[in-house]
This record gives sequence, C-alpha cells and structure tokens, in this order.
Amino acid sequence: MKIKTAVFVKSSSQHEQCPKPDRPEYAFIGRSNVGKSSLINALTNHGNLAKISGKPGKTQVINHFMINDAWYLVDLPGYGYAQVSQTERQKWSIMIDDYLFNRESLTCTFVLIDSRIEPQKIDLEFMQKLGEKGVPFCLVFTKADKLTANQLQTRLENYKKTLLETWVELPLIFVTSSEKRVGQQDILAQIEEWNKA
Ligand code: GDP
Repeated sequence: MKIKTAVFVKSSSQHEQCPKPDRPEYAFIGRSNVGKSSLINALTNHGNLAKISGKPGKTQVINHFMINDAWYLVDLPGYGYAQVSQTERQKWSIMIDDYLFNRESLTCTFVLIDSRIEPQKIDLEFMQKLGEKGVPFCLVFTKADKLTANQLQTRLENYKKTLLETWVELPLIFVTSSEKRVGQQDILAQIEEWNKA
C-alpha cells in the first residue's frame, strides 16, 4: 500500500471522544521505548507523525491518524513506564480497556515487542487480556536491526515457544526495523487485505 496522506485527526482521553467509527481502525501499542513512534513514522512515511520519545508516560491519550482517507491508525499510550504512579496506571488501564473492548471499528491491534528481550510478563498478560476479550491482535517485533539474523531467529523461536505454552495458535507475526525500513510494507499489505474484506 502506498501512503498518500497521513493526517492527525484528534487526541481523545476516553473512548467516547474518539472519531466516528466509520473507517477500519488499527491500533498500535507496546511497552515504553519499544519503538512505537518510530514504527508509526516509518509506516506512514512521515518524519514526525508520532513524536519520538518525548516525556515518557506523559501523554495518556488515544491519537487518531487518518490514512489515505480510508482507515485510522491509532497510537495508544504505551505501558510499563517505571516513573508512572499507581493512579496513573489505573487511569491508563481503564481508558485502554474501554477503548479496546468497545471500539467497534477496531480491526486489529498491533502489539509491539522489542526483538532483543526475553518474553515479558507485562506483554504476555496484555495479550492474554486481549485474547480473553476476543480483541484481535498480531505481534510486531521491533528493532530487528539490533540483532544478527541468527540471534533474531533464536529470539523469535523462543518467543513462539513461550506463546504456545498458553495459546493454541500463534498470532500473525511481523518483524520490523524502523531504522532499516524493514517490515513496514508487510504490515501495510496486511492492512490493505483487511480493508478489502
Ligand atoms: P516509543 O517510546 O515506543 O514510541 O519508542 P520510540 O519510537 O521513541 O523509540 C525508542 C528508541 O528506540 C529511540 O531511541 C529510537 O531511535 C530507537 N528505535 C526505534 N526503532 C528502532 C529500530 O528499528 N532500530 C533501532 N536500532 N532503534 C530503534
């Protein structure tokens, strides 16, 4: 898919404030610093659509971007910030759950995982929650350029093994590097497929 236009639409602090659900929607989420902003910028071919690493954890809002006038890309606030208070965490959880469980146009949630690290409880629990609520998701491994091909392979196999301890089926998996511009077209091609369906 060619990105012709990528336009910021609005920031919402609750699900009810989100734009009218009149387009297929794809949300991106992950732990702080996973490379979400970089991926969104690489996907949309935009230098700075999503701000890269400003103040971590500051903006607890749902950001909607309209792509090609046809679908929404949604930047969800990340999780796992060390500096964030318990109250902020709860607020985050309520807002995110409300969005994820009720957004009727949400076609798929892309859960971002840093390719370099061992499976993290916080990510696995997040996926578990999505599964329990029937929210479709796929995985995006980020920063693949930071590993050799062999290391990457080992990490992916290890991750899949961990997933198969609780899941009967693996989700769709994408491997990306925003730095080296790898994997973006795979994600966009998948979105294009879903948009046609
Ligand atoms: P966010 O907090 O999830 O939005 O993460 P950012 O996109 O701000 O990225 C966090 C850090 O990881 C920044 O220093 C980025 O430059 C770096 N980063 C993000 N994606 C990649 C990548 O694909 N490769 C490499 N080598 N670094 C990356």
